[in-house]
Amino acid sequence: MLLDGFGRRIDYLRLSVTDRCDLRCSYCMPQGFKGYEETEHWLSFDEIERLLAVFAGLGLKRIRLTGGEPVLRKNLPELARRLAALPGIDDLSLSTNGTQLAKYASPLRRAGVTRLNVSLDSLERERVRSICKRDVLPQVLEGLEAARAEGFRLIKINMVAMAGTTDDDIDAMVTYCMERCFVLRLIETMPVGETGRSAGYLDLLPVRERLRQRFGLVDGVVPGGGPARYLVSPDGRFQIGFITPISQHFCETCNRVRLGVDGSLHLCLGQNDSVDFRTLLRSGCTDADLEEKLRAALHAKPWRHEFRERPQQIVRVMSATGG
Ligand code: SAM
Ligand code: SF4
Repeated sequence: MLLDGFGRRIDYLRLSVTDRCDLRCSYCMPQGFKGYEETEHWLSFDEIERLLAVFAGLGLKRIRLTGGEPVLRKNLPELARRLAALPGIDDLSLSTNGTQLAKYASPLRRAGVTRLNVSLDSLERERVRSICKRDVLPQVLEGLEAARAEGFRLIKINMVAMAGTTDDDIDAMVTYCMERCFVLRLIETMPVGETGRSAGYLDLLPVRERLRQRFGLVDGVVPGGGPARYLVSPDGRFQIGFITPISQHFCETCNRVRLGVDGSLHLCLGQNDSVDFRTLLRSGCTDADLEEKLRAALHAKPWRHEFRERPQQIVRVMSATGG
């Protein structure tokens, strides 16, 4: 079991397989973004597999493929297959914007991805276009139907709730997800990068109470539900999670770190602390060297983010960290 310096068990990794994306969501990647990592700095599949095998030997259990848009990484199903087969890894999931899900749902499912998070902020075509800067709603909905048909164990819809932009989309999203047994998760915008700071923060606590009344929902516990607090329908078929890093932070239960495409291990989404693994991986190191560095890195994981106290401090954008 791998514990950080505060005794928290770290068994979950978000792995950014690319920092590129086909969208430019207003809260994430700036239009005209030029700060991409050079491709020779990207960890290869062999490097990722080796590092995560060592991590799994220490107690890593769950991996989420993310980015940027992860399906843009060439041969992603091949990487998924290799990671799903690592001893100790019992859960492989994917976060995607869904634009290419119709094409990738089947190969990723066959490669061992069992759970999907799909980002979707509205069911209004024009609004999605204005948030993402591309007219992608029809293809995302088509991708979601393909994923349903493929029989993924769980499909969650991630919706960033923004004051003045998507606050009046929430009820339609609840109905859409209820009808399809998708788990809906509303996310407060985080001040990650200038885009995140200017996205229109919406406090989700009053929204939660309104939805409880309107849809007759009750408090619920969802196994493996992560940091979200859930409401469920009385028959348990519909679940809605509220990810509230700003109004009600959940750092004391944090169980995760993030590996950037360049081999930087980010220890907290809301802090700048990171540890470079690429140099060590490319220096002819032993697995024992990797193990020692992983232990030291996790020991240095910060206690909590300071999104409220120091909202200006994170200059990197979410797509660069692996949100
Ligand atoms: N491209 C994939 C996607 O959109 O799902 C994976 C990467 S994306 C960075 C992962 C998640 O981060 C998405 O659900 C997105 O909505 C969320 N996200 C991006 N910027 C955010 C911000 N400033 N605040 C809160 N969530 C954000
Ligand atoms: Fe791309 Fe995902 Fe960021 Fe949107 S949220 S710009 S889809 S990485």
